Amino acid sequence: MEEQANGRTTTILHNNPLSLLQSVFGFQAFRGRQAEVIEALCSGRDALVLMPTGGGKSLCYQIPALIRPGVAVVVSPLIALMEDQVSALVQNGVRAAYLNSSLPFQAVAAVEQQLLRDELDLVYIAPERLLTEHSLGLFSKVRIALFAIDEAHCVSQWGHDFRQDYLQLSMLHERFPGIPRIALTATADELTRKEIIARLGLENAELFISGFDRPNIKYRVSLKDDAKQRVLKFLKLDHSGEAGIIYCLSRRKVDEIAAWLREQGLDALPYHAGMEKQDRSRNQRRFLMEEGVIMVATIAFGMGIDKPNVRFVVHLDLPKSIEAYYQETGRAGRDGLPAEAWLFYGLQDVVTLRQMLEGSDANEHRKRVERQKLDQMLGFCELTACRRVALLNYFGEEGSRGCGNCDNCLEPVATWDGTEAARMALSCIYRTGQRFGVNYLVGVLLGKPDSRIQKFGHDRQSTYGIGKDLGVDEWRSLFRQLAIRGLIDIDFENFGALRLNAASRPVLRGEYRLLLRKDRKKQEKGIRRPEHGLIGSEDQGLWEKLREERLKIAREQGLPPYIIFHDTTLREMAETKPVSLSRMAALSGVGEQKLAKYGERFIRVIDLYLAENPAREPSDREQ
Ligand code: ADP
Ligand code: ZN
Repeated sequence: MEEQANGRTTTILHNNPLSLLQSVFGFQAFRGRQAEVIEALCSGRDALVLMPTGGGKSLCYQIPALIRPGVAVVVSPLIALMEDQVSALVQNGVRAAYLNSSLPFQAVAAVEQQLLRDELDLVYIAPERLLTEHSLGLFSKVRIALFAIDEAHCVSQWGHDFRQDYLQLSMLHERFPGIPRIALTATADELTRKEIIARLGLENAELFISGFDRPNIKYRVSLKDDAKQRVLKFLKLDHSGEAGIIYCLSRRKVDEIAAWLREQGLDALPYHAGMEKQDRSRNQRRFLMEEGVIMVATIAFGMGIDKPNVRFVVHLDLPKSIEAYYQETGRAGRDGLPAEAWLFYGLQDVVTLRQMLEGSDANEHRKRVERQKLDQMLGFCELTACRRVALLNYFGEEGSRGCGNCDNCLEPVATWDGTEAARMALSCIYRTGQRFGVNYLVGVLLGKPDSRIQKFGHDRQSTYGIGKDLGVDEWRSLFRQLAIRGLIDIDFENFGALRLNAASRPVLRGEYRLLLRKDRKKQEKGIRRPEHGLIGSEDQGLWEKLREERLKIAREQGLPPYIIFHDTTLREMAETKPVSLSRMAALSGVGEQKLAKYGERFIRVIDLYLAENPAREPSDREQ
């Protein structure tokens, strides 16, 4: 690459995928199956790409868009997503634009003119807009390089992101025969995959499935005891100054937690569907445009959030399914740097979610599917083996070795034989008439002198006081695990009274050996990152300065900081301290255009830092 002293870049003339990757995007090599997908599209074939979040889906169509003649039409469901992608492309000197309802009339007309003059490489458009006669007419007069259908799982009626308009996208194939199509999604399950193929008419598409592992995400699941204080510590000690998301089930809880975190001096904002639209957008904007904002939200928040440096996702309540959990936690660490997912759960979650499920107006079949998904989610919480292996197995990926980056791998869980204790518990439920909840039953087992117990005469039946070998917490844990495994039922109509069911019988008879998880103590020792932050402490000062410069540039242009440079690039910059343009160009994520625009500014920051800290030699990677 040449250094451009005058700050102008040459137009993109190459048509070789690898040289485009290097000169335009500043990356050295393709990742995973990117090169194969690009090859398929460039030769005019259709493709279906399933890659995890952060896997690098966008380049799969952006590079063919630069190579094939004409404009690539990218269907994208959300305005925020389109704007982000287009800003990022424009930063790299690519001719890209979007068409959506946020654009004023003149701007739309201008983009349409550019299309007719063949002056764009990519145009992003919302499905409902693409499907109008006006747009279809327009595109019939334009040379089209390819169609890319992003977030293709939106065609799935089973998914949570279903969009009616996506169903009509199959007509692209009939209206524009011979134009290659690529559908992309991070949703992994088989059912969704089949639906995408059928509904978009992609039977002949080449299938590219990548592994769904997100190795940089550390998974952790804990019981809800004292969750608030533990999260506070986590935010202040492990993630201070970093951005992340905290999911809660209800709007009320979102408001309450966000307010409480603010009282504790943290930059937390609420987000849920009950808020005024402008308040919601304002909070979302702050989350994207600033560094280190904590978003406390219901699941209304997240889709279309492409912020790459979300460092943690906390669930203060149980998600409805493993798919939801995977998708929500997947918003952490898109940039590939270390990130954490921490879920808190308790028996009350099960009660609340089951109640919501039974009370919904879904049909019986759907309810059954959802019940099953919830059970699988609970099974995931109670696991004693590697969480990642379980997640990947759930999505059909084989694997059995522990990952070394989840709570169960880092701090193996002890199990205990709960067969006898379970028999006592079930017998206690039976002898007290299957009318009482956990607290009462634990009281009976421990032989508590409780006036209610005495009133019902339960201090005179055989299970009173037989469980003194275990403590309150152990009994509660046992009841929870029995309920979660379906070995007892919870009567929701009756204040959570526990009842026996058909599955209880073999346990009661001792025919079933029950291995239970020993609950962890509240302190999570040893699970923290050994070193705070993304960056070694000796480079911390420079890192902060580089972040300031990035934020300044971002503010000047009204863009989110990560559009200027990703944390990965900034981190490399802090570590290698390049002081010439050619060294700067060697960093991942510095293409020709960004080098010309920002190279000097960051070099100045580094020079200054080195002058003030003479001990910090730049590491010389070229020698
Ligand atoms: P997805 O859409 O699959 O979630 P993106 O396309 O947003 O992922 O890419 C995720 C991150 O990986 C982005 O920061 C992107 O710039 C980076 N990336 C993609 N491909 C490469 C590559 N070949 N080399 C280095 N970084 C890459
Ligand atoms: Zn593991």
